[in-house]
Amino acid sequence: MPELPEVETVCRGLVQILQGYQINKVELHRLDLRYPFPPLMNERLQGTKIIEIERRAKYILMHTDSGYTWLIHLGMSGRIHELTTAAMPGKHDHVVIHLQDGRRIAYNDPRRFGYMDLLPRSSIHQSIHLRNLGFEPLAFHLTAEIFYGLLSKAKRPIKTTLLDQRLVVGLGNIYVCEALWQSKIHPEENACNLTKEQAEILLESAREILQKAIKAGGSTLKDYRQVNGELGYFQHTFSVYDREAGACQRLSCNGTIKRISQSGRSTFYCPNCQRRQS
Ligand code: ZN
Repeated sequence: MPELPEVETVCRGLVQILQGYQINKVELHRLDLRYPFPPLMNERLQGTKIIEIERRAKYILMHTDSGYTWLIHLGMSGRIHELTTAAMPGKHDHVVIHLQDGRRIAYNDPRRFGYMDLLPRSSIHQSIHLRNLGFEPLAFHLTAEIFYGLLSKAKRPIKTTLLDQRLVVGLGNIYVCEALWQSKIHPEENACNLTKEQAEILLESAREILQKAIKAGGSTLKDYRQVNGELGYFQHTFSVYDREAGACQRLSCNGTIKRISQSGRSTFYCPNCQRRQS
């Protein structure tokens, strides 16, 4: 499933191939993805120019010069790729964007958990999709002090707190496991028990991991596009995620990675270097 770094990578790729270009038409090959397509989607996008593309949490926001914003969520398996000149759209290419310069960009989604909406830009942040979203983890205005303040009010495990999109968005299961391991914090520790220093280290770790993943994604994306013009995800290398029963990667630690379930999601951690304080 694409998480924040992948969506950021896709967004940066889209800026290169879509921003500043005019849409001739949007061809829909079905009536819905996870939800029905918004009414008059083609009519409202036809003839408009995509003037700006940005990411909010795991949403891609494509602002057009008509005042509408095209919102795309990639779900579990959504991908956006450029069709070569002669190629017919593939089986899972559910949406094909025809650009004025003749290029065709396809939204491909085999599992169809993705979705799209079309909303006035002026009210996009009050929409059902975005209105309850918390801080962007990479945003400057999320200071260590504010982050500590958020955690100190949460009387529940730090792992589940970090996954709460109303506080901080887009960290995702993998990156939360990685950040907790890097900060030596036990995933079951209550968020409100963390010290200010721990909160600061945790925020720094999360940012470092996200930035690294975005950087890796960016370079992979470039290489990948040289081959077949696709915008793809990158292969991750993880320190703790999906390493159950493996040796802890921390040099000074001889612990073994354990897997537990928290709120129905797998958590991977090292019981030796991620100790509970309470
Ligand atoms: Zn360890």
